[in-house]
Amino acid sequence: MKADVLVVGAGFAGSVIAERCASAGRQVLLIDKREHVGGNAYDESDAQGVLVHRYGPHIFHTNAPLVSEYLSQFTDWIPYEHRVLASLDKKLYPIPINQTTINRLYGLSLDEAGVARFLESVREPRSPIRTSEDVVLSTIGRDLCDKFFRGYTRKQWGLDLSALSATVAARIPVRTNSDDRYFTDSFQKMPAEGFTAMFARILEHPRIHVELGIDFRELRQRAEWKLLFYTGPIDEYFDFRFGPLPYRSLRFEHQHLSGVEQFQPVGTVNYPKDDDLFTRITEFKHLTGQQHSGTSIVREYSTSEGDPYYPIPRPENNEIYQKYATEAASERLAFFVGRLAQYRYYNMDQVVAAALKASETVLKAS
Ligand code: FAD
Ligand code: UDP
Repeated sequence: MKADVLVVGAGFAGSVIAERCASAGRQVLLIDKREHVGGNAYDESDAQGVLVHRYGPHIFHTNAPLVSEYLSQFTDWIPYEHRVLASLDKKLYPIPINQTTINRLYGLSLDEAGVARFLESVREPRSPIRTSEDVVLSTIGRDLCDKFFRGYTRKQWGLDLSALSATVAARIPVRTNSDDRYFTDSFQKMPAEGFTAMFARILEHPRIHVELGIDFRELRQRAEWKLLFYTGPIDEYFDFRFGPLPYRSLRFEHQHLSGVEQFQPVGTVNYPKDDDLFTRITEFKHLTGQQHSGTSIVREYSTSEGDPYYPIPRPENNEIYQKYATEAASERLAFFVGRLAQYRYYNMDQVVAAALKASETVLKAS
């Protein structure tokens, strides 16, 4: 097999890079070891015809016009603002924690200024802020931390909040008003026909050849290329020479409930208590706006074994990653982009931005 550009991985990183390189006149071979494109954002109709996300809920949001404008060439959008509730002792509370969460939990009726004063009275300021525990304790204090963050985090990561970098819990803001949206980005929309349909259009270029079900480890010996973009796990590319990078995996339990029009009031309900083994349940019809007499949900169970889904942000892992990154920087014709290749807890839009930037830089220089 021969190509100007070989792209490994057909998720957001690989697909955007393939499109950019093909549009710049290069012959591109894009491979994925899975039997489909889209990476972890892949969606499909289940047996009952409900559009579901095979690898867990994906909600598109961005503040970067460059990213939304780029993707808008390949899809129409439907507006969707994600809302999440946390289930605690059979009651539901908005997450991120906001005015309603605090009033409902403690039987109060505080206004915005009252909530700010309440948080000031319970927070445990810490300095410096290094871990996720520091972030949470210093904004909302111990009780709210233990109720909404400690158990969820332990289930999700198999680690205590204190063992994770600050960036993990810092993803979730705290609000004194009653805004109950999960994200506040200026662009919050879902691809009108789903992610997979959008990927198909991104890759619909005469100079892109897609081969599925092919593992780079096997192709490496027999393919020829001038440039390589690699979007799989970086430790695997280098044969784990500095040891394996830890990734967190998930098991997805999909279920269709026939005759049930709506299972839960919002897209996702989080289960922060240890007595439920799953972390969250997502009901896809909320995300997609699809009408159907039944409904499809997914429960997420975190595991240490299985496909790599999350890099695990903590200093000792970052140290290992830096060794691989140094090695990667010395490769002249290979470039590493994406959540697994850069070992970063990227959202989809950040991956698209990284892919646009990397392809522009490399194409200019070669
Ligand atoms: P991936 O999508 O992982 O693609 C990498 C591809 O490389 C895979 O298809 C893999 O099969 C392939 N590959 C790996 N190794 C090889 C090999 N040796 N040979 C051939 N192919 C290989 N982001 C959001 O913005 N909003 C969300 O709501 C959101 N929800 C998420 C929920 C879950 C459960 C998870 C796990 C992630 C979520 N994300 C979300 C993050 C989002 O999935 C990623 O940012 C994005 O999909 C990463 O794209 P990527 O191309 O870097 O990686
Ligand atoms: N988190 C939590 N409780 C919640 C929501 C989030 O403890 O109700 C913490 C947890 O550590 C989680 C992190 O915040 O892994 C980031 O949450 P996010 O919803 O961004 O995770 P993702 O959607 O990427 O799995």
